[in-house]
Amino acid sequence: MFHSARLHLTGWYLLIIMLISISFSVVIYKVLSVEVQRFDRLQRGKLERTFTLTNPSFSPAYPATKAVLVSFDPELLSETQRRLTNSLIFINTLIFVLAGGLGYWLAGRTLWPIKEMIEEQNQFITDSSHELRTPLTSLKSGLEIGLRDTELTLADARQVMTESIEEVNKLVTLSDGLLQLAQYQKPQNRTTFTTVSLAEVSQKAVNQVKTLAKNKQQVIKNNIQNLKLEANPDGLQDLLVILIDNAIKYSPDKSTITLSSQKTDGSVKIRVSDEGIGIADHDQTHIFDRFYRADLARSKSVATGYGLGLSIAKKIVATHQGTLTVASQEKKGSTFTVTLPLKH
Ligand code: ADP
Repeated sequence: MFHSARLHLTGWYLLIIMLISISFSVVIYKVLSVEVQRFDRLQRGKLERTFTLTNPSFSPAYPATKAVLVSFDPELLSETQRRLTNSLIFINTLIFVLAGGLGYWLAGRTLWPIKEMIEEQNQFITDSSHELRTPLTSLKSGLEIGLRDTELTLADARQVMTESIEEVNKLVTLSDGLLQLAQYQKPQNRTTFTTVSLAEVSQKAVNQVKTLAKNKQQVIKNNIQNLKLEANPDGLQDLLVILIDNAIKYSPDKSTITLSSQKTDGSVKIRVSDEGIGIADHDQTHIFDRFYRADLARSKSVATGYGLGLSIAKKIVATHQGTLTVASQEKKGSTFTVTLPLKH
C-alpha cells in the first residue's frame, strides 16, 4: 500500500514539474524565435542601409553584399530553431529523469510519517483487541459453564455472577484506560492550557486516590510547593493520579509515598517517591510502552493493571513539552520525576 501510494504521489509530482517545465520551454522557444527573427530583420535592414550609402549601385545581388547577407539566410535561422528545440528537449528529458528520482524520494519522505501513524494505529488496535479478549473469554466461559450446569444452585449462580462482574469491571477499567490514552494521543490544543496552582492540583490528585492508600494503611506526604505553571489542569491531575496510584499499588502496606517539587530555571521538577517493590534495570526502559508490565508486577499477587498508566502519563508529559524519568532499585523503591516548563 505504501509503495503504490508513493508511486502515485511521485506521478503527481512529476506531472506538476513537467507541466511547469514544458510550459517554460514553450515560452522560451517562442520568445527566442521572435527575438532571432527580429534581430535578423534589424541586421538585414542595417546592412542594406550601409551598402546603399557606401555603394550607390547596391543590390542584394551584388557579390560582396550577398557574402554578408548569407549569414542571415533562412536556412541558418531554421537550423538555429532546430538546435534550440533539441536543446529544450534534452533539458526537459533531463528534468524528467531528475524530477522522477527526486519526486520518488520526496514522496517517500512525505508519506513516511503517515505510514508510521497508520502502523501505530494498527498496532494500537491489535494490542487493544488482544487485551480485551482475555477478560471477554473468561467472562464467556464462566457464563457458559454456569449455563450448562443442570444442578446449578442459587449460591453457584451468585458465584458465577460475582465473577462475571469482576471481569466486567476489568473491561471497564481497560476501556477507560484506552479512552484516556486515545484522548491524550490527539495533539493538544494550547487553549486548554491555563495558569494552574501546582499545590491545588496535587491535592486534588491525592484526594482522588487517598482511599486506596488508606486501605493499605499507607501515608501520602504531599510536600509540593505552591507555585504556578501553565498547564492543562485535567491532564496534570491525571498524570499525578497515575504516578501516585502506581506508588500505592506497588508498595507494601504501611509504607510512605512522598510528593515533592523543585523549581529550577524556567521549569519545575515534580517527584513521586515510594518504598515499594522497585523496578528491575531491564524493565525500566520498557515500562513507558503501552501494555508493558514488569515481571514483578505481572505476578497477580502484587497488583492488577494493564500497563497503560505510564504510557498515558508519557503522552500527557509530551503534550506539556516536558520529560518523565524513573530512578528505581528493586525492593527499595522508585522515584518518578516529571519536569515541566513553567511557561509555554
Ligand atoms: P500498570 O500499573 O497498570 O501495570 P503502568 O503503565 O502504570 O501499568 O505501569 C507499567 C509497569 O511499570 C507496571 O506494570 C509496573 O511493573 C511498573 N511500575 C510502574 N510504577 C511503579 C512503581 N511505582 N513501583 C514499581 N513498579 C512500577
